[in-house]
Amino acid sequence: MWQKDNDFIIGKEVKEDIETEILIIGAGITGVTTAYNLIDSGFDVVLIDREKFFNETTAKSTGKLTYLQDLKYQEICNIYDYETAKLYYESQKEAIRLVKKNVKENKIDCSLEKEEAITFTTDEKEVPKFIKEEKILEKLEVNYSNVSDTFKNNGVKHLISVKNTYVFNPVKYLKGLLKKIKKSNNIRIFENSIATKIRKDDDYYVAIVNDFEIKTKKIILTCNYPFFIIPGFIPLKTYMEKSYITATKVDKNKKINGITSNYPTTSFRFYEEKDSKFFIYLSNSSKICDKLNFESNYNDTINTAKKITGKKPTYKWTNMDVMTNDFLPLIGRISDEEKDVFIATGYNTWGMTTGTIAAKILVDLLKHKKNKYEKVFSPSRSMNLKKIKNFAVNTLSSNAKAYVLNLIKKNPSWYKNKALVTKEDGKRIGIYFDEEGKKHKVSNICPHLKCFLNFNEVDKTWDCPCHGSRFDVDGNAIKGPSQYNIKIDETNE
Ligand SMILES: Cc1cc2nc3c(=O)[nH]c(=O)nc-3n(C[C@H](O)[C@H](O)[C@H](O)COP(=O)(O)OP(=O)(O)OC[C@H]3O[C@@H](n4cnc5c(N)ncnc54)[C@H](O)[C@@H]3O)c2cc1C
Repeated sequence: MWQKDNDFIIGKEVKEDIETEILIIGAGITGVTTAYNLIDSGFDVVLIDREKFFNETTAKSTGKLTYLQDLKYQEICNIYDYETAKLYYESQKEAIRLVKKNVKENKIDCSLEKEEAITFTTDEKEVPKFIKEEKILEKLEVNYSNVSDTFKNNGVKHLISVKNTYVFNPVKYLKGLLKKIKKSNNIRIFENSIATKIRKDDDYYVAIVNDFEIKTKKIILTCNYPFFIIPGFIPLKTYMEKSYITATKVDKNKKINGITSNYPTTSFRFYEEKDSKFFIYLSNSSKICDKLNFESNYNDTINTAKKITGKKPTYKWTNMDVMTNDFLPLIGRISDEEKDVFIATGYNTWGMTTGTIAAKILVDLLKHKKNKYEKVFSPSRSMNLKKIKNFAVNTLSSNAKAYVLNLIKKNPSWYKNKALVTKEDGKRIGIYFDEEGKKHKVSNICPHLKCFLNFNEVDKTWDCPCHGSRFDVDGNAIKGPSQYNIKIDETNE
């Protein structure tokens, strides 16, 4: 949807060795906003992306800027306490203020609109959770209501509505920030520049990018899934969630957005540009280890959007985000030992706000300034695993579960436009038969952490159920964490 507005051409990629003070890897909302905050900072900065800037998770989001995030505050209270939930709430409100300020100062035309947001449920059993959430919202002095003048639906059992949240077009917003970055004297930007390794040499780091070396004092990983530093560290704290989204032309913009509390999640908003109005509808949002039937999830989302609007969707896409087991993002120094390596990830599908506040936290840390969110969002915080209900399901068992489901779903019939998983010479092989019946053979093992890959019938890709790497039918890596392909003769470690 927003990708159609992504016409910003940088025209430069890393083609030689480079030296810098700060290297930012990944130009989604986090990387671009971090670079923006570093304009005229006195630091020499390099910002790179493996493909076009902000064309990944950020461009595939629904573009809501809200602090009403399903039933988030009680989830944080359940694991931590009210004070932590309050800090999270304040971080989201501050992020909205920052986006508004950036839009105003740079006169960015990104359809930023104030509007009502609701969290609702059609399941009676969810209602006690809403009552609990309302108690926290009251303590936070949030002005909410249990009725909406705009959203009328007989099936709804309960809703929470607030009137002061925002929506925008994230790509147009980031284009606005990037224009200013491009004019700065201290920031160099490179697209089509993939980082594959990082090593430490004395008191600096070297990142291998397009087979060249970028020598840097500090590294900031804003690549959504910062895989290559300590592979075992991040996966245990995170899992991936995938959603299916449609945008359908409608006659009226109702200026309201909503999300359900039930799992799998459903969410909606409207978007207006020039003469067109769209209803954006997202559903079947679920952990990627839970749901392997991409095609039926996709069709279900499309059919429901059709039922609601009476029209065929104009745009259809899927998106994935990094989720954390304790509902808080991972932002800051990667560890006490590696003081000059920073990460920002785990936004739990609320990265428009959390990516914005992450950029503020990261720049405060670089400038040795205090930031009140530093401790609660620290990537090295200890998570209280006893209180995290779904920990085993989300991480430890996802591998085994995906494997079993994959075996059950294995389709042995040899016909066109289908894929199967088999073994050859003791190795797991994935074979896709295209429309003409031509075989495309790849390794079925993700080079990242050795999970078995599932075939995504909608996008015709091999997807990793553990951490979201994706490969095309010929084995080329198209989305991280894996930086390596799965071509049959060259399965890199
Ligand atoms: C379905 C869905 C809907 C969502 N809707 C909303 C919403 O309405 N509101 C909200 O607040 N949040 C929403 N989110 C969450 C939000 O989209 C993400 O949290 C956010 O976009 C993440 O931003 P990012 O900058 O961390 O990552 P990205 O936008 O993914 O940027 C990371 C960049 O790093 C690059 N990269 C990766 N690896 C490398 C490498 N090795 N070398 C160089 N570059 C690399 C990628 O190409 C990419 O451009 C949604 C998420 C999903 C899944």
